[in-house]
Amino acid sequence: MTKSQEAIDLEDKHGAHNYHPLPVVLSKGEGVFLWDVEGKKYYDFLSAYSAVNQGHCHPRILETIKEQASTLTLTSRAFYNDVLGPFEKYMTEYFGFDKVLAMNTGAEAVETAIKIARKWAYEKNGIMENSGKIIVAEQNFHGRTTTVISFSSDDTAKKNFGPFTPGFIKVPYNDTEALKNALEGEDNIVGFLVEPIQGEAGVYRPDNDYMRKCQELCKEHNVLFMADEIQTGIARTGSLLAVCGDCTCQGHCEKQSSYVEPDILILGKALSGGFYPVSAVLANDHIMEVITPGTHGSTFGGNPLGARVAVTALDVIKDENLAQNARKLGELFRERLNKFIETTDLVKLVRGKGLLNAIVINDSEDSSTAWDLCVALKENGLLAKPTHGNIIRFAPPLVMTEEQLHDCCDIIEKTIAEFQK
Ligand SMILES: *Cc1c(COP(=O)(O)O)cnc(C)c1O
Repeated sequence: MTKSQEAIDLEDKHGAHNYHPLPVVLSKGEGVFLWDVEGKKYYDFLSAYSAVNQGHCHPRILETIKEQASTLTLTSRAFYNDVLGPFEKYMTEYFGFDKVLAMNTGAEAVETAIKIARKWAYEKNGIMENSGKIIVAEQNFHGRTTTVISFSSDDTAKKNFGPFTPGFIKVPYNDTEALKNALEGEDNIVGFLVEPIQGEAGVYRPDNDYMRKCQELCKEHNVLFMADEIQTGIARTGSLLAVCGDCTCQGHCEKQSSYVEPDILILGKALSGGFYPVSAVLANDHIMEVITPGTHGSTFGGNPLGARVAVTALDVIKDENLAQNARKLGELFRERLNKFIETTDLVKLVRGKGLLNAIVINDSEDSSTAWDLCVALKENGLLAKPTHGNIIRFAPPLVMTEEQLHDCCDIIEKTIAEFQK
């Protein structure tokens, strides 16, 4: 039996079957590359769902984690530590907010944002306790906790996990009229929670002015505009945050005219460059001050190891100009693939922003074409994964070079061309 098959069988026998992975067993990563246990080399075109924007095993982040791991890893928040404060100062300056609250996973950060929003509404916005509602978008993905799946549109993610948390209203994505109607027609709205691009749903990119219009509507109705940038943030879409619009300053400018300021910003994934789970919620004082001792917490949240890793991971984004690189390579990628798909019936369209892109397969939603194509891509040395509805997401690490990107486009085009025969 091959080493790969052995590893697959072990997971199959002893692990819960909560994923359906592509049949490849990875044992090493460096930059944009991954290697399997047989030594075959691949381009990574998923970046662990955009957690590895800085590339695998980035040497600077590696140095930081080693150093901090041999000094101090966890104190709990029962005591102060000498890393959390500098991390908080760095984060708030980097993203332009008064305060940050550190957690671990993305779903926890979303939960934190929901809790803050509700508490703010009851304590500062005159809404009666336990009656607040949060508007969300259809086809959203915000994580896997019971409250977060309560407002999912994905039946598989919800089925038999109820009863669910009440207090959420769904409106169609990229539909400001629907948001306006909900804000006007419903009582006790606390806020609107939205992804600037819906990643899991299949990289749905809304109209360019969608975020701005949503923010304006929220402001008009005095409710909180909450951006889940766990996947779109940290240079992925060609700017520091997707809400930065066209600005590539990576958060180091006086806020540009294209910037749409969220009241609550939610980050995760690439905040640690793939080394360690670190997530965060940012907001200004008038909102964050509803969080007082005892109201929220986490044993690991804000630990010295995660805090140090996050600072270096964000330094790398800035120092290596990864937002600019994502923007440039993204344009190249869509230009090449758009030209290529004119020659094939297999792909309907290419869409995305920066290096968060997808191709939509020209086949029924329940066909296995996207999966089969990903298996063929794997054989040809490139790893990508289908997402909902026969769509393949393409999201390589942002440290990719132009030459490597062309190499990857060659692989993708060759694989699709061969696949048709
Ligand atoms: C991945 C993701 C989450 C959940 O993050 P976890 O770390 O898996 O809990 C939430 N929102 C968005 C937009 C995501 O992409």
